[in-house]
Amino acid sequence: MDAVLATPALLPATSRHGRSAVTRAVRRTLADHRSSGSPGSHDDVVDDVLHALRDGAPPLRPVLNATGVVIHTGLGRAPLSGTARAALLDAAGHTPVEFSLTTGARHRRGDAVLQALTDAVPGAESAHVVTNGAAALLLAATALASGREIVVSRGQLVQIGDGFRLPELLTTTGARLREVGTTNRTSPADYADAVGAATGAALIVHPSNFWVGGFAGTPDVRDVVAAVRAVREDVPVVVDIGSGLLTRRSTLPEEPDAASVLAAGADLVTASGDKLLGGPQSGLILGRRDLVERLRRHTLARALRVDKLTLAALGTVADDPTDTPVHRALTARPDELEQACRALADGVGAGAVVAHDGVVGGGGAPGHRLPGFALALPAWVGARLRHGEPPVVARVVDGRTLVDPRCLEADERGTLLAALRAALASGPG
Ligand SMILES: *Cc1c(COP(=O)(O)O)cnc(C)c1O
Repeated sequence: MDAVLATPALLPATSRHGRSAVTRAVRRTLADHRSSGSPGSHDDVVDDVLHALRDGAPPLRPVLNATGVVIHTGLGRAPLSGTARAALLDAAGHTPVEFSLTTGARHRRGDAVLQALTDAVPGAESAHVVTNGAAALLLAATALASGREIVVSRGQLVQIGDGFRLPELLTTTGARLREVGTTNRTSPADYADAVGAATGAALIVHPSNFWVGGFAGTPDVRDVVAAVRAVREDVPVVVDIGSGLLTRRSTLPEEPDAASVLAAGADLVTASGDKLLGGPQSGLILGRRDLVERLRRHTLARALRVDKLTLAALGTVADDPTDTPVHRALTARPDELEQACRALADGVGAGAVVAHDGVVGGGGAPGHRLPGFALALPAWVGARLRHGEPPVVARVVDGRTLVDPRCLEADERGTLLAALRAALASGPG
């Protein structure tokens, strides 16, 4: 700490921002470095401190995602499309979020957006939107099974990310977990045996961030529904699909989607809005009208309500689920990405074009390869890019900085080239 504070390079910053601001920035930077697991060199720390002190940059400013990770949680998950950005600006002032311009009367909050969602998902009689995927599950578990049992497979009691454990979320609702099957195998009969007078719901979770090989298997939604119904007709089957595809996508054949799950007999589907759907942070609830109404009318629903900006952006995604940066990044052609890397290499007169797989990220589609390319540059370029304007986040691995153009929209490529030039021109220092 003292060694960093004594660095001559920080003197101008100290006279400009004051000693306590610099001390705070040093402390925060050192803590960040320590918690990242790879503490940087003295010079790295000084660099980062100077960057943190730079004037005027709002904390949530735009950055370029050159990591090849499509749903990057650290970078805000799904970037919104131009249409979605325009829609949320339009909604920023007064907007008829709970008001009908036709009749002049109050109506269901976000009615047009909910309508667009049910239109987009065959088999969804009704829809409701909450703050995120976890909230959708929380609301479903509370409204359907508080004080009762949720029948769920042991193989699906997963931890998702950042210490978020699904079973803990479920039990905070006052529901009891009735675990069935084993870690690697669960059969329809296991569900049937567990359903009884105390059952509030049966839950199927898509274990989105890992996959199980070998002697393993969980039954299809259709078979679980049949097994549950054979014992009790009135037990709702809820499916948490996680990633939020509305309908089947041939480019992601392993990912479950809301329409298919409802067609298989599920009563409710819950999903995230800002993973593969490519929308704003939100949680989608789709399915049987009476059940969606029960959730919407629950007291907890008010605490999980989304704002008009979220609804506005989500509406555009429901209207056209393929007009999203996420969809474009997932379907980018390898030859086109290679060409983009060559153009960058030519533009900066440095680096090598190397094969580089993108990943879906956000805990989705584990093991799904997205073949592509990156521009490989010296490792020191990584920090220079991060500290540039706009900041560019690339992967630094095995002594190289890998700049992957997959997640950049076409109009961001020129900005990336300029940022690369500036970073290289600044030299290794
Ligand atoms: C991501 C995920 C969640 C949580 O959704 P958030 O939108 O992050 O709250 C819940 N269940 C599954 C299966 C998920 O993949």
